[in-house]
Amino acid sequence: MKVLVVEDEAEIRRTVVQYLSGSGYLVESVVNLREAEDKLAVFEYDCVLLDLMLPDGSGLDILKKIKANYPQTGVIILSAKDSINDKISGLDLGADDYLPKPFHLEELMARLKSIIRRRSFAGSNIVEFKELKIDVEARQVFVNNVDAQISGKEYDILLFFVTNKNKVISKNSIAEHVWGDYTERLDSIDFLYTHIKNLRKKLTAMGCGDYIKSIYSVGYKFADI
Ligand code: CA
Repeated sequence: MKVLVVEDEAEIRRTVVQYLSGSGYLVESVVNLREAEDKLAVFEYDCVLLDLMLPDGSGLDILKKIKANYPQTGVIILSAKDSINDKISGLDLGADDYLPKPFHLEELMARLKSIIRRRSFAGSNIVEFKELKIDVEARQVFVNNVDAQISGKEYDILLFFVTNKNKVISKNSIAEHVWGDYTERLDSIDFLYTHIKNLRKKLTAMGCGDYIKSIYSVGYKFADI
């Protein structure tokens, strides 16, 4: 799950990034609208946490662009003042939620989870594919109801596959989704191959079908045929 934090207040930005990263999210942050636009043009995010009062303008401006150009991305507005006008404008423009500052990190997490569930998994905590079951709340994977003990990056890769089942996915888009724009600075993403190999091995050893297909020179496809 990938989140972009658009927030110019260093303390809030740091706290949110640290908290969400510690909870297994891939989090990137920017401090103004211009940087946010640059990021959004290149990367896909599951959710944007958007401050409204930014040094180069109002977060509401970029909210319009997100809704027009990246409708799959959720948006939570973080507003300094609990202003009813900001709230109405934000929700009118398509924000999924609105959180007045100061907020509890647990509250932010709860709202974030609910948006990601709603947008990616039709409101459910459980994603199923054949004998595979993924609990996105607990970040646990089950094969025929037995815990497969898959965690960390392999869990993120599997969830990305299942969310994009039957689609051909490039190696780069997997690496970018799971490791973030850090991968831009790497010469090779061969490490991805190792993670996918391990994941396949763990799942098939438990009697799960081998649904991760290599598509020569392109990437992978998660499918049952
Ligand atoms: Ca601000």
